[in-house]
Amino acid sequence: MVGGGVAGATIAHKLSQAGKRVVLIDAGSADAMDPDRYRSMLTNYYGMGGLRGTPNGPYPINHDALSPGTPDPDPYYVQRGPMNFMSDYLRMLGGSTLHWQGTSLRLVPNDFRMQTVYGRGVDWPITYDDLQPHYREAEEIIGVSADVGDQRNLGVWFPEGYVYPMTKLPPSVVDQYFDARLQGVTVGLALAHPTRIAILELLSSGELSAGALIEKLGMEQANVSQHLAVLRAKQIVSNRKAGNQVFYSVRDPIIIEVLSLMRTYFHAHLKEALGMLDEMEKPLETAR
Ligand SMILES: Cc1cc2nc3c(=O)[nH]c(=O)nc-3n(C[C@H](O)[C@H](O)[C@H](O)COP(=O)(O)OP(=O)(O)OC[C@H]3O[C@@H](n4cnc5c(N)ncnc54)[C@H](O)[C@@H]3O)c2cc1C
Repeated sequence: MVGGGVAGATIAHKLSQAGKRVVLIDAGSADAMDPDRYRSMLTNYYGMGGLRGTPNGPYPINHDALSPGTPDPDPYYVQRGPMNFMSDYLRMLGGSTLHWQGTSLRLVPNDFRMQTVYGRGVDWPITYDDLQPHYREAEEIIGVSADVGDQRNLGVWFPEGYVYPMTKLPPSVVDQYFDARLQGVTVGLALAHPTRIAILELLSSGELSAGALIEKLGMEQANVSQHLAVLRAKQIVSNRKAGNQVFYSVRDPIIIEVLSLMRTYFHAHLKEALGMLDEMEKPLETAR
């Protein structure tokens, strides 16, 4: 077996369990397998900061088997595409798995039924239920950090008494901030419609009456009222009555920030996607 990261080690383990004799060859040193040596690398990481404060920072440079980040990721990689590979990997027994953060999300049941549920893509020939025992086995082998209660959503189920092998990662300060501000607001579903996004865009500069919204959107009253009802039910907009008019406003301006972040994200990735398409066109044009 060439390479002793999680993939090589798991295959080697399974083969040896099946009675095969396996030789595992790795390009890097076996230092990190020694607990004291591993601990010294952690101290290295926390003490280093600055220049080598990268994921590969703690690990000793092996001049016979260089890795990205030793000393700088960019000269190491040969990056030919429009989007650079931004992460590290490690040549050392244990591989990039020494970096393992512990995040590995299960697909949700509807991911296997995209055509039936959403009319998009194709349905898989297997279901979440078929994969469930294998998720358990893989999570045990690779060590996944999570809390069953947090992950039990969108139909994901776990067998009675299931516990992830590692405790969940603590939420970052940014996670905590968004969580506190969005308490009780099911933003995702409520925003998943172009008309509702358009309504919020219109309300971003201030309160508007239902009549003004209908006029600006150029849509039927019943249709707009339906979308306003969803946004109200999800506590994204609030309303007040004045005479025979109903005025709507965004309940918490953070929603506008969320929309703006989403717009920035999609713009950035649209540009990347267009760049990639341009790159893909080039060889075709040359060939012609
Ligand atoms: C900072 C960081 C955090 C990450 N966090 C997560 C996460 O939370 N969730 C997630 O899903 N993924 C995460 N990943 C990615 C994940 O760790 C890797 O995808 C995974 O470890 C790869 O496993 P592997 O066995 O395929 O390869 P590796 O672990 O990279 O193993 C490859 C092995 O092959 C050896 N090797 C390489 N070339 C040769 C050669 N020519 N001859 C002999 N041996 C060779 C190397 O020394 C190494 O031991 C993270 C990656 C990084 C860098």
